[in-house]
Amino acid sequence: MKKIALLILFLFSSFLVLSVQPSFTIEGVGNGKVYAEDPIIQIEDGFGKLHIELNGEPIQNGYEITENGEYELTVRSTILWKDKIENITFERDDTPPRKPAIMHGVESVYFKEAKFELINEEDVTYEATVDGFPYTFNTPIKKEGEHVLRITAFKDNGLSSQAKYTFSIDNTTYTKKEIDMFIDFYFEHETELFKFTDDIDVIVHGKPTEQDIKKTKDVIEKLNEMLPFTLTYKKDASIKFFKNQINMYFTSVDDFSSYGFEGDIVNGEKMVIGFAKSEEVYYEEGITKAIVLVATDITQREREATIIHELTHAVGLYNHFENDPTSILYPYSEGQVMTWNKKDAKMIELLYREEVTVGMGKWAVRQILEPRTVKK
Ligand SMILES: [Zn+2]
Repeated sequence: MKKIALLILFLFSSFLVLSVQPSFTIEGVGNGKVYAEDPIIQIEDGFGKLHIELNGEPIQNGYEITENGEYELTVRSTILWKDKIENITFERDDTPPRKPAIMHGVESVYFKEAKFELINEEDVTYEATVDGFPYTFNTPIKKEGEHVLRITAFKDNGLSSQAKYTFSIDNTTYTKKEIDMFIDFYFEHETELFKFTDDIDVIVHGKPTEQDIKKTKDVIEKLNEMLPFTLTYKKDASIKFFKNQINMYFTSVDDFSSYGFEGDIVNGEKMVIGFAKSEEVYYEEGITKAIVLVATDITQREREATIIHELTHAVGLYNHFENDPTSILYPYSEGQVMTWNKKDAKMIELLYREEVTVGMGKWAVRQILEPRTVKK
């Protein structure tokens, strides 16, 4: 009787031992996951003796990972001869994807079509749109006008980064003659191109007549239709020391030298009646300050012709068309020409094309304009 009871007890206890399996659950990290924040390895203990290793080194439960890298976690629980092993790999990476970039950059203006090639970063996925519609890289965009390219980069760690690029497609063409004329005209005395790149105040000083003011405002209005920024008429001598301005002095020719005019006022039978000069020029911003002198001791008509002639110089066209009496940049006019002819307007247009940029030399300007050449 005793023997049986012992045997039963023995069987019963063996059964108990056999039914208890080593168990645990891993929390805080998951297989194949990437973490941007510090993950904490948390093992929820079931039965058995735990042994935790991270990249082959024993660690304690509750270990926090604070360094970027790839990790292999091995958790083992044992009860007597039984064990349970689980092996997972994960990564800690708190670096966001790089700002999405385009191969060779994004130009401000394209002719006929724009095509973008993405610089791919490893393990990063991208989404791109043009004007809000999905864009597939390396496919051409042909619609004329302004466009916005937005790119978002995503990483498995949940971090992302964005980039926004604006560009336009402009299919304006020029004849070879127009382009040659602009380049020959602009670079006759200059080696690098300079122009205004921002809004300008045209500040009038001295003694302009009412008609002078009217003409100045009229020229400003017409230039504003041709230039990619705004000129604003101002009559306030106190603000003459700031940037982005053309200071316009209506004064006697005798006083020209006190405003920086060097040279002879009288040259043979000709007398100087106006003067323009860039006073501050930078490689980043282009011209930021210019001065214009208009003689007050000449006829009203001559003054008005001088206003437009000198303001045309001031916006960056400092050369003359010596052989074209119909041009506003004809230097020997006595008030016969009161506005720009087609050629003058073309010179302003070409100088202020967006892709023609400050600091460009003759060769660079030719190269950027050449694709727009049409035979005529
Ligand atoms: Zn001139």
